[in-house]
Amino acid sequence: MIITIASGKGGTGKTTIATNFALSIPDAQYIDCDVEEPNGNLFLNAEIVERLAVGTPLPQVDLEQCTFCGDCAKACEFNALAVLKKKVLVFPELCHGCGVCRYICPAKAISEGEKRIGIVETGIVHQIQGDDVAFAQGVLNVGEPMSPPLIKRVKQCALAGKTVILDAPPGTSCPVIQTLNGSDFCLLVTEPTPFGLNDLELAVGVVRLLEIPFGVIINRCDSGDQSVVSYCRAEGIPILMELPLNRDLAFAYSKGIPFVAEYPEAREQFRHLLWAIHKELKP
Ligand code: SF4
Ligand code: SF4
Repeated sequence: MIITIASGKGGTGKTTIATNFALSIPDAQYIDCDVEEPNGNLFLNAEIVERLAVGTPLPQVDLEQCTFCGDCAKACEFNALAVLKKKVLVFPELCHGCGVCRYICPAKAISEGEKRIGIVETGIVHQIQGDDVAFAQGVLNVGEPMSPPLIKRVKQCALAGKTVILDAPPGTSCPVIQTLNGSDFCLLVTEPTPFGLNDLELAVGVVRLLEIPFGVIINRCDSGDQSVVSYCRAEGIPILMELPLNRDLAFAYSKGIPFVAEYPEAREQFRHLLWAIHKELKP
């Protein structure tokens, strides 16, 4: 089963919940899909056993064969090519690697090169209490704007038979949709504030569009107001977990310590969460 932990915005505690959830349940795998800023491993301290460079296709133009007809630049809907008198410029940061230019080039002057966009790291989180957790993360190159291909690649590390926890990037744009695609369930983490509600509504719109079953976790549930609870009730959205604001937990977080390591009794709450998800998925 694949469970995505998402939130309409950053700073809601999504990674804290995703990492502690993975540490608490049997046979878990944690995959950090927040490839622009993967920080789950700050809490998990996985032993990395394999690193794999990931690239996307990038056109290479053979100027000996090129007739400078300009067809490739006209065909590129991302404006990633410019044909000059004696040169063809390729802008890697705009190229989506779609291959259209290669396909239409009448002189067969374009071949497929590669642009490195980041790495995928896999490993294992060793635990004294509880099962070891399989681990994977994508790390996007600094300044690289195309994260979805790397997210797609890191998701391929999902192991059959595990409960896979995908830690999504914040927001509701393409990287989140790439992460959510193919998930069995989504947990939306929010805070009980008007801002939290606004971002939750956007995230609910996305998961409903993708037709993925979902539930809500309210973090810092004893702060803020009742707006999120009222919204969930009105919309028939299950609230599957509520976590209070706790100074000890915040202190553990600031030290990069998963709170289930400090408070083992919290593991039970996450096991109950998994049970609640299974219950939601029952026909
Ligand atoms: S379509 Fe081919 S031949 Fe024409 S400008 Fe582009 S690379 Fe050169
Ligand atoms: S591969 Fe696609 S996006 Fe990249 S330059 Fe060619 S047509 Fe444009």
